[in-house]
Amino acid sequence: MSIRDQLKKREEERSTPKGNGLNEGLPEGVTRYVRLGSELKDGRQFVMLADPDSWYFYFCHEDGDFATRATFVKKHTCLHSPKGTGANLDSYKKPNGGACISCKAKAKRKLYFMIPVFDLEYNTWRVLDVKEFHAMNLIGDYDKLEKAAKKFNKEYSLVGDVIKVTKTSDGKSYSLESGDAEVPAEAAQFVGFEFPYEELANFREVDDIIALLNEADPEHVDKSVLGGADQPPADGAPIEVKDEDLPF
Ligand SMILES: [Zn+2]
Repeated sequence: MSIRDQLKKREEERSTPKGNGLNEGLPEGVTRYVRLGSELKDGRQFVMLADPDSWYFYFCHEDGDFATRATFVKKHTCLHSPKGTGANLDSYKKPNGGACISCKAKAKRKLYFMIPVFDLEYNTWRVLDVKEFHAMNLIGDYDKLEKAAKKFNKEYSLVGDVIKVTKTSDGKSYSLESGDAEVPAEAAQFVGFEFPYEELANFREVDDIIALLNEADPEHVDKSVLGGADQPPADGAPIEVKDEDLPF
């Protein structure tokens, strides 16, 4: 590859947003994450791809005021989160300042779930990325549906079947009911599929998180933990260069 091509490739890599490969196969403007507000407004049918016990959970640090739309701490993934499914919630439920600088800074921390589904319109897998409260509501509906169906067929599982997820009429959460669409043949290959959750959760570099915390509202994080001697300069402070280091 010529140097021109190599430079061009470098430039392209720099301008490609991270995680872009995740959206491969989806139409432009559609991501692996279902847009909960707009896409679920009138309900949408999916094939459920995993049982709640196999839903990926992780934590986010975020703080703000919904009423005034103020952001105190910009949302970012807690580094003290599992990188895949099957983790024990007990091992992660408490903040861990040793594993995560945002935990150390006492930023508000919330539990999230990623629910893998097969999208009937785009014919590929996507995820519903929801807060604990919504996950609890969806699991409640899930269990009710499955229990009712098991009366007629003990082997029945919602995994691999069509469900419909709709924003509730009060707009505050989501409901899950049985769908009436046919299960497409392509969906089966994604039951038990290893979804790239670590990539989906977008774990940031520590430097990046420190920069976020520096920008956060000082009332909502303890910034005293950010400036230790072992921490890199977080505010983009220029690195000192001695004259003899310069190539001219
Ligand atoms: Zn954390």
